[in-house]
Amino acid sequence: MSIQFGPDYVRAIAPYQGGKPISEVAREFGLNEADIIKLASNENPLGMPESAKQAMQQAMADIGRYPDANGFALKATITAKYGVPADWITLGNGSNDILELATHAFVQPTQEVIYAQYSFAVYALATQAVGARAIVVPAKNYGHDLAAMANRITADTRLIFIANPNNPTGTFLPAADIEAFLKVVPQHIVVVLDEAYNEYLVSELQYDSIAWVRQYPNLLVSRTLSKAYGLAGLRIGFGIAQPAVTDLLNRIRQPFNVNSLAQAAAIAALNDMPFLQRSAQINADGYRQLTQAFDAMDLEYVPSYGNFVLVRVGSDEGAGARVNLALLKQGIIVRPVGNYGLPQWLRISIGLPEENAAFIDALKKVLA
Ligand SMILES: *Cc1c(COP(=O)(O)O)cnc(C)c1O
Repeated sequence: MSIQFGPDYVRAIAPYQGGKPISEVAREFGLNEADIIKLASNENPLGMPESAKQAMQQAMADIGRYPDANGFALKATITAKYGVPADWITLGNGSNDILELATHAFVQPTQEVIYAQYSFAVYALATQAVGARAIVVPAKNYGHDLAAMANRITADTRLIFIANPNNPTGTFLPAADIEAFLKVVPQHIVVVLDEAYNEYLVSELQYDSIAWVRQYPNLLVSRTLSKAYGLAGLRIGFGIAQPAVTDLLNRIRQPFNVNSLAQAAAIAALNDMPFLQRSAQINADGYRQLTQAFDAMDLEYVPSYGNFVLVRVGSDEGAGARVNLALLKQGIIVRPVGNYGLPQWLRISIGLPEENAAFIDALKKVLA
């Protein structure tokens, strides 16, 4: 018998399945990279902002040196934007880093982490990585059932993940529901409010989660530069929480977890409001384009508040995988979500108008 390394709970982890890279699909299906359209990882179809590119070019001059381990300048930008002091901020190598730091800092093996069915795959990974018990609470209308989640709190609960808007379903929890939830969660349990798609919310739905951070010492809000800010490849996100939580996250993070190009680009992007507005507008237009097509094709979809749409492409358990493969052959990469327990569905990231149109044409052919 071969030697088994590591604890059982690490061997039990199913590897993360990301969106297929364009280069891999080109190799597998004999296509030209230039002809492939990727709508699979909720990236910004505009790419990075020009302001961030220029900031990185300047930062290149110092790339021989280690980055600022404390991210002084970036934290000052976050302070100016969100009104929180530097010791309330944790910088992460993507917000993924913040989610993982949270389980490592606050949860021991066999303690419990609560999250919703059909929520971000990283919650399961981060929970399993520390040998904690995952309490997966059934979704309600594809979104979080906060009342049911509150009911599952026990003496062993240490952390709760909430994504708003949620990925992969795109559902949204109104501010009042989250606030009511925060009121009933015991204060020794950390609540991670993952706001990766916050910048896509229309102003009527925006809410002041930073005010909640001031009120609730157990609340950790996470934000990312990977989506609306167009910097997914750089890996930069941040968490905002009161010092008692932030201090622990900063003790266990790698000292240089955010590289200097990412820090420079993030400062520029966070200040680039025209880019953010353009991203939101392209997204709103693309959402209309996709959902009108789904309506015309009589396809069910979950109304989305993010930069992607979950659409049901068939009624049998093989539908998502089958339609996904047929789309790949036509050079369209979307995200199958069978691993989320949604085998009849595909998640489509909203692209540029011509990318959305090419996807819609391909989908029509595949389903004909
Ligand atoms: C994309 C996404 C993130 C962001 O991940 P990064 O590591 O910042 O790129 C976080 N949470 C959710 C729910 C997401 O969909």
